Amino acid sequence: TIAFWNGDYLPLDEIRVSPLDRGFLFADGLYEVAAAYQGRLFEPQAHIRRLQRGLAELRIDTGWSDADWLTLMEEMLRRSGLQGDQAVYIQVTRGASTSRGHAFPAGVKPTVFAMPSALKRPPESWRSGGVAAITTPDIRWSRCDLKTVGLLGSVLAQQKAVEQGVVDAIQLRDGLVTEGAATNVFVVRDGAIATPKADHRILPGITRAVVLEIAAEAGTPVAERDVAANELATADEVWITSTSKEVTAVTRIDGRPVGTGKPGPVWTAIDARFQQRIGR
Ligand code: PMP
Repeated sequence: TIAFWNGDYLPLDEIRVSPLDRGFLFADGLYEVAAAYQGRLFEPQAHIRRLQRGLAELRIDTGWSDADWLTLMEEMLRRSGLQGDQAVYIQVTRGASTSRGHAFPAGVKPTVFAMPSALKRPPESWRSGGVAAITTPDIRWSRCDLKTVGLLGSVLAQQKAVEQGVVDAIQLRDGLVTEGAATNVFVVRDGAIATPKADHRILPGITRAVVLEIAAEAGTPVAERDVAANELATADEVWITSTSKEVTAVTRIDGRPVGTGKPGPVWTAIDARFQQRIGR
């Protein structure tokens, strides 16, 4: 695999990261993952906007323009040598310092890394039967709107899901649904869609934004609002969304069926439009 490392294109296994890199020491950095379907990036500007906003919030100044990020993503696709659908991973850290202190070191230069991979799309069984999930307390910090590499809360949530043989862990905070381990959550009741509003408690997912757009286009009532934890039990449908999971119906939560226990009609309609958007 050819990867990007601070200006160079190198084989992934030749890249060496400094132990003084603040990404390593402090998780002082951000990442992005974008999909490309048959060579075409999906919503690249939205990914770039989210990255640039995060960098500005963390005061990491790369000097890179939106066009520079787009070029990097296109170059990754071009150099990957992969056929078919791909994912591009980008990571930016505050950089390698000369000593270990919490505050920003003077004159530190950001580390920029990117790598391509084959995009693993949701298996057919998820489309026909949906997936199972558990709920788990949201133990993360209060700036979940930033896509930082400090992912321990999500790591522990996803591990709990894996150990229970399910696909995702829906996180709950103060009696409300926040999001999955690496997905946004939607609920449907009586034909109306709802999803937690995009504030500091969740990552503003690109897939989430596309689903909101699609729902509006389709004329389906949709609200961004607080979603109570107990709505998961009374919903007709629950979905999770992400770049890699697309729009996936959750048909069991904590061992109990959601609605009929099958992907519902609102999911079917929204997913059809989503598949069209990604060129399927
Ligand atoms: N929430 C979290 C915590 C995530 O890590 C992700 C995946 N990056 C998402 C939501 C979904 O975001 P997207 O649709 O942009 O992949």
